[in-house]
Formats: sequence, structure tokens, C-alpha cells
Amino acid sequence: MRIERIAVIGAGMAGLSAALALARAGFAVSLFDAFATPRPIGAGLLLQPTGQAALRALGLYEQVADTSARVDRLIGRAPSGGVILDLEYARLRRDAFGLGVHRGVLFGALYQAVCAAPITQVLDFEVERIDEAAGSVHTICGASRGPFDLILIADGAHSRLREKYFPAARAPIYPWGALWTIVPDPDKACAGALRQVYAGARVMIGLLPIGAGADGGADDAALFWSLPARHEARWRAAGLDAWVADIRRYWPEAADFAARVKSPADVAFAIYRDVRVRDWRHGKLLLLGDAAHGTSPQLGQGANLALVDGLTIAAALGAHRDDLTAAINAFVAARKNLVGWTQFMSRWLTPAFQSGVPGMGLLRNLTLPIARFLPPLERLMLSTLTGDRAGLFAAAPPALLDATDGRSEAAAEPAQS
Ligand SMILES: Cc1cc2nc3c(=O)[nH]c(=O)nc-3n(C[C@H](O)[C@H](O)[C@H](O)COP(=O)(O)OP(=O)(O)OC[C@H]3O[C@@H](n4cnc5c(N)ncnc54)[C@H](O)[C@@H]3O)c2cc1C
Repeated sequence: MRIERIAVIGAGMAGLSAALALARAGFAVSLFDAFATPRPIGAGLLLQPTGQAALRALGLYEQVADTSARVDRLIGRAPSGGVILDLEYARLRRDAFGLGVHRGVLFGALYQAVCAAPITQVLDFEVERIDEAAGSVHTICGASRGPFDLILIADGAHSRLREKYFPAARAPIYPWGALWTIVPDPDKACAGALRQVYAGARVMIGLLPIGAGADGGADDAALFWSLPARHEARWRAAGLDAWVADIRRYWPEAADFAARVKSPADVAFAIYRDVRVRDWRHGKLLLLGDAAHGTSPQLGQGANLALVDGLTIAAALGAHRDDLTAAINAFVAARKNLVGWTQFMSRWLTPAFQSGVPGMGLLRNLTLPIARFLPPLERLMLSTLTGDRAGLFAAAPPALLDATDGRSEAAAEPAQS
């Protein structure tokens, strides 16, 4: 069967990248989102070389990089100042670096491109049910669209569609989440590095430079603070002054940034899931992004994986337009090991940074500094971070980022519905 009409459910990083790449490869794409106006959720994120390559393939890299901040190293310290982690991208590859971005900038670049592409946007449409035989999608109120030859489910880590149509999947919530906010950094004090301070495994504070953002004013930084998922209400009740005082005990400079937050409402709380899905495909349905492989953000990979997922499925479909199984096999071959390795590492590292397990912080403090004196271990950590690794001894397969298959960009008008 020839694949022509594709539904993409979810206008997050995975859905936007997939919709854009698929439209450019000549597929008829309908993009669904529950929001009436799609919008980013969260503060800032770290874009790795893999995510940067995906943006280059979409022609959006310069636009995003211009208002973002270059990150050359990740430095983790104890409150005393002792270095626990110091990873410098250039020690793996001279041209490698991270990019601290405002989520709004990344989302805005992707969404503007989607609006300019021949993609049918179906907004304010929360997909409640999928008729797998008919290939159609339905809201709770009975609205429906279809038929589609393929339905990409990119509705995020908390995906309800995954629960319904992939019952064997598991997605437990991590016991710890994180508070996130954007703070002004007019003096660029945070420039150049993602800096973190850890006290045991119960305290993790981070400052990530994210550039000026879309308004082009002074620079900002994203500030985060680790918190058990069940303590959010307690944190909000305690108020900002108590929080600033808490941070000051471990990292006075970060407390000065926290003191710039005007209201608890400006601080978002994020919980994460450890998504485990053996088979991302079920008939005409395919999971993408966090819906397929959400994890804790310890390694800063989720948005990068989501962006590359979108391009990879478009490239695989572009190469196998008449054979859905061959296309999905190509997608899985390109993604499964790399994603599996990233999830494995996140799963094992998370308790060392965010947990109440006694001794975990000490164990981390004793083992991680070894990497600075053991080049193979340092390379293992760096190549996991950059997305160049798909296993202990395996390099990541070459990314499939070109979906155009020799075609020029389709010229049809964008559509709204
Ligand atoms: C605190 C925190 C920090 C992070 N930091 C980083 C980082 O530094 N680097 C990094 O790479 N990643 C980071 N991540 C991870 C990253 O944010 C996610 O991996 C990424 O956003 C996943 O994108 P997605 O498109 O899969 O899902 P989402 O961005 O969650 O998008 C899902 C979309 O689906 C829509 N939707 C949901 N249900 C339905 C439905 N039934 N019908 C229609 N639409 C629906 C939603 O409205 C939403 O627009 C972080 C995550 C957290 C929580």
C-alpha cells in the first residue's frame, strides 16, 4: 500500500519535526494538538549536537542559534566547591558543543516553519480514540478526521494514547521531579557552561545559560532545583523566600538568581516518566518522541531524540513509500539502540543525582571524578551526551536526516482546520 496521508498527533518537538520533514518529503500531513494555540511547556533546554544537526537538516539552525547560548562544558560541584563532574565537549570533538535555548525559541522556529508548510493543522482537537481499522482519529465529542495510512503518536511522556493502544508499555513516574524557571542574567555570569551543585543525592541545583530569547534583550538563564514529586504543594506553600534561603545554604550565587523570581507562579514543576515500550509500532500506529521513550532529563537528551525521531521517520518513509513495514524497520534500526542506551544511562544515573537513597551521593562523588583521569570513561560519558553512542562498545548509526528524497519542497498553501 502506498503511504500518502499521515496523521501526527502532538505538536511538541517530535510532532513538529515529523510534520515538517514529512511535508517536505511530499506526504499529506495533518497535525493534531489538544491546544487551540500550540505552545511550549517549560523553561530552557540543552540542545546537543544531535539536535543541532536535526535543526540544520530542517533549515532552522541559524534562527535558533542566533538567540541561544553556547555551552562548552558541564560542571558539577559540591557545595564546598570540590569538582565532581567536569565534561568538556571539545575533549571528544573539537567542533562539538551544546546550545542552551529558550524552549519558546525552539518551539517558535519549528512552529513558524510548520505554519509556512503545506500541513493541515487541526487544533483544539484532543485525540481520545483511534479507529485502527479505518485509520481515523476521534475526539471525545465525536469529531473525527481520516482516513490516514499512518498515525504517528507524539503526545508526550504522559501519553494517554500509548496507555490505550500499547497496553504492554510501562511508564512509571520518577519519584523526583524538578522546579524550572527563567531568570535574567544580564551580566552573562552563567555563560559557557551548565553549572550544577549537588549535596548528597537530595539536592541538585542547576544554572543553564539560554541566551536572549526571541525578544533579543539581555541574556537569561534557566534555573532548576530538584524536588520530590510529592513535595510540590509544600514548596508552593513555603513561598519564595524559604526557597531562596534553602538554595543559599548550598550555592549563594544561584540564590542571587533565585531571588530575581517574582512569583511562585513563574516556577514550573516538571515530573518525568521512565517510558518502556518494547515495540513502538502497532499496525498503523507508531510512537515517537517522549511517548515512545520518555526518560528523566539527567542527560539532556529528550528534545534531541524527539527532533531526530521526526526526521528519521520522514527519511525512512521517503525511502520506502510503498512499504510501511520496511519504512518502520528502517526507522527502528536507526533509532532503537541509541535510544535504548540513552534510556539505560538515564535510568542508572538518575538515582545518583535525584533520590533519597542513602550513600548514593557519596558513591557518585567518589566515582565520577575518576572520569577526568580515565580517558576511555570520559569519552564514554561525552559520547553519550553528544548522542554519538548506542551502546557500551557501539557507536551510534549514522542519522537519517534527509527526507526530501530528491524532491523539492511542496508548494501548496498551508491549511488550517
Ligand atoms: C524539567 C525538564 C528538563 C528537560 N531538559 C531537557 C534538555 O535540557 N534537553 C533535552 O533534549 N530535553 C530535555 N527535556 C526533555 C524534553 O522536554 C522532552 O523530551 C521533549 O519536549 C519531548 O517532546 P515530545 O514532542 O515527545 O512531547 P511534548 O513536547 O510533551 O509534546 C506533546 C504534545 O502533544 C499534545 N497532546 C498530548 N495529548 C494529546 C492528545 N490526546 N491529542 C492531541 N494532542 C495531544 C500536547 O499538547 C503537546 O503539544 C526536559 C524535560 C523536562 C521535564
